[in-house]
Amino acid sequence: MWSQREVIDYALQRRSTLQALRRPGRRLARQEACDADPMLIRAAKHHGEPSNVNCPVCESDDLVNLHYVFGDQLGQYSGRIKRTTELEEMAHAFGEFKVVVVEVCPACGWNHMILSYLLGDGVKRKPPRRQQTVEDIYG
Ligand SMILES: [Zn+2]
Repeated sequence: MWSQREVIDYALQRRSTLQALRRPGRRLARQEACDADPMLIRAAKHHGEPSNVNCPVCESDDLVNLHYVFGDQLGQYSGRIKRTTELEEMAHAFGEFKVVVVEVCPACGWNHMILSYLLGDGVKRKPPRRQQTVEDIYG
Protein backbone atom coordinates (compact mmCIF):
# COMPACT_ATOMS: atom_id res chain seq x y z
CA MET A 1 0.00 0.00 0.00
CA TRP A 2 1.22 3.49 -0.81
CA SER A 3 1.18 6.43 1.58
CA GLN A 4 -1.63 8.93 1.24
CA ARG A 5 -0.88 12.46 2.49
CA GLU A 6 -3.11 15.40 3.39
CA VAL A 7 -6.20 13.20 3.31
CA ILE A 8 -9.45 15.20 3.35
CA ASP A 9 -12.64 13.26 4.07
CA TYR A 10 -15.83 14.91 2.80
CA ALA A 11 -18.17 12.67 4.82
CA LEU A 12 -19.56 15.62 6.82
CA GLN A 13 -20.43 17.63 3.72
CA ARG A 14 -21.94 14.51 2.14
CA ARG A 15 -24.07 13.90 5.21
CA SER A 16 -25.31 17.49 5.38
CA THR A 17 -26.18 17.41 1.66
CA LEU A 18 -28.17 14.21 2.23
CA GLN A 19 -29.89 15.67 5.30
CA ALA A 20 -30.87 18.77 3.32
CA LEU A 21 -32.29 16.45 0.71
CA ARG A 22 -34.35 14.39 3.16
CA ARG A 23 -35.60 17.14 5.46
CA PRO A 24 -39.34 17.91 5.23
CA GLY A 25 -39.80 21.14 3.29
CA ARG A 26 -36.32 20.37 2.05
CA ARG A 27 -33.86 23.06 1.12
CA LEU A 28 -32.34 20.97 -1.61
CA ALA A 29 -34.24 19.55 -4.56
CA ARG A 30 -33.34 16.07 -5.73
CA GLN A 31 -32.53 17.40 -9.21
CA GLU A 32 -29.89 19.65 -7.63
CA ALA A 33 -28.17 16.85 -5.71
CA CYS A 34 -28.55 14.27 -8.49
CA ASP A 35 -27.18 16.48 -11.24
CA ALA A 36 -24.55 14.21 -12.81
CA ASP A 37 -24.27 15.24 -16.45
CA PRO A 38 -24.20 12.67 -19.29
CA MET A 39 -20.39 12.87 -19.47
CA LEU A 40 -20.07 11.98 -15.80
CA ILE A 41 -22.59 9.13 -16.10
CA ARG A 42 -20.66 7.76 -19.09
CA ALA A 43 -17.37 8.05 -17.19
CA ALA A 44 -18.96 6.23 -14.24
CA LYS A 45 -20.11 3.37 -16.46
CA HIS A 46 -16.74 2.97 -18.19
CA HIS A 47 -14.18 3.87 -15.54
CA GLY A 48 -16.04 3.56 -12.25
CA GLU A 49 -14.93 1.14 -9.57
CA PRO A 50 -17.75 -0.40 -7.52
CA SER A 51 -18.38 1.33 -4.21
CA ASN A 52 -18.78 -0.77 -1.07
CA VAL A 53 -21.97 1.11 -0.18
CA ASN A 54 -25.29 1.53 -1.99
CA CYS A 55 -26.44 4.87 -3.39
CA PRO A 56 -27.52 7.04 -0.42
CA VAL A 57 -30.38 8.49 -2.48
CA CYS A 58 -31.94 5.65 -4.51
CA GLU A 59 -30.34 2.60 -2.82
CA SER A 60 -28.96 1.37 -6.16
CA ASP A 61 -25.96 -0.95 -5.85
CA ASP A 62 -24.51 0.47 -9.07
CA LEU A 63 -22.79 3.25 -7.11
CA VAL A 64 -19.18 3.68 -8.29
CA ASN A 65 -16.11 5.71 -7.36
CA LEU A 66 -14.09 7.73 -9.86
CA HIS A 67 -10.50 8.79 -9.17
CA TYR A 68 -9.48 12.06 -10.80
CA VAL A 69 -5.80 13.08 -10.76
CA PHE A 70 -4.49 16.63 -10.78
CA GLY A 71 -1.02 18.17 -10.67
CA ASP A 72 1.57 20.26 -12.49
CA GLN A 73 3.91 17.29 -12.72
CA LEU A 74 1.30 15.25 -14.58
CA GLY A 75 1.28 17.58 -17.58
CA GLN A 76 -1.31 16.35 -20.07
CA TYR A 77 -2.59 13.70 -17.64
CA SER A 78 -3.89 16.26 -15.14
CA GLY A 79 -7.67 16.10 -14.81
CA ARG A 80 -7.95 12.52 -16.08
CA ILE A 81 -9.65 9.53 -14.48
CA LYS A 82 -7.35 6.73 -13.28
CA ARG A 83 -7.94 3.27 -11.86
CA THR A 84 -6.68 2.38 -8.38
CA THR A 85 -4.02 0.12 -9.90
CA GLU A 86 -2.81 2.97 -12.12
CA LEU A 87 -2.63 5.28 -9.09
CA GLU A 88 -0.25 2.85 -7.44
CA GLU A 89 2.07 2.95 -10.46
CA MET A 90 1.80 6.74 -10.70
CA ALA A 91 2.69 7.13 -7.02
CA HIS A 92 6.15 5.78 -7.89
CA ALA A 93 6.51 7.75 -11.12
CA PHE A 94 5.64 11.27 -9.93
CA GLY A 95 6.78 13.43 -7.04
CA GLU A 96 3.37 14.69 -6.08
CA PHE A 97 -0.18 14.78 -7.40
CA LYS A 98 -3.67 15.14 -6.00
CA VAL A 99 -6.33 12.46 -6.19
CA VAL A 100 -10.00 13.46 -5.91
CA VAL A 101 -12.49 10.62 -5.37
CA VAL A 102 -16.05 11.24 -6.56
CA GLU A 103 -18.92 8.80 -6.06
CA VAL A 104 -21.45 8.64 -8.88
CA CYS A 105 -24.76 6.79 -9.16
CA PRO A 106 -25.61 6.06 -12.82
CA ALA A 107 -29.16 5.14 -11.77
CA CYS A 108 -30.27 8.48 -10.26
CA GLY A 109 -27.42 10.88 -11.02
CA TRP A 110 -26.27 11.37 -7.43
CA ASN A 111 -22.65 12.55 -7.32
CA HIS A 112 -20.49 13.82 -4.48
CA MET A 113 -16.80 14.29 -3.75
CA ILE A 114 -15.97 11.87 -0.93
CA LEU A 115 -12.20 12.04 -0.50
CA SER A 116 -9.07 13.80 -1.67
CA TYR A 117 -5.42 13.09 -0.93
CA LEU A 118 -1.90 13.55 -2.24
CA LEU A 119 0.22 10.77 -3.70
CA GLY A 120 3.75 10.62 -5.05
CA ASP A 121 7.23 9.56 -3.97
CA GLY A 122 8.23 13.12 -3.01
CA VAL A 123 11.08 13.16 -5.53
CA LYS A 124 10.91 16.29 -7.62
CA ARG A 125 11.20 15.48 -11.30
CA LYS A 126 13.21 17.72 -13.63
CA PRO A 127 10.97 20.09 -15.54
CA PRO A 128 10.97 19.43 -19.30
CA ARG A 129 14.19 20.67 -20.92
CA ARG A 130 13.91 24.16 -22.31
CA GLN A 131 14.28 24.35 -26.07
CA GLN A 132 17.17 26.50 -27.25
CA THR A 133 16.04 29.60 -29.11
CA VAL A 134 17.66 31.68 -31.82
CA GLU A 135 18.32 34.39 -29.21
CA ASP A 136 20.36 31.94 -27.10
CA ILE A 137 22.63 31.19 -30.05
CA TYR A 138 22.94 34.60 -31.74
CA GLY A 139 21.80 37.02 -29.03
ZN1 LIG B 1 -28.79 6.64 -6.93
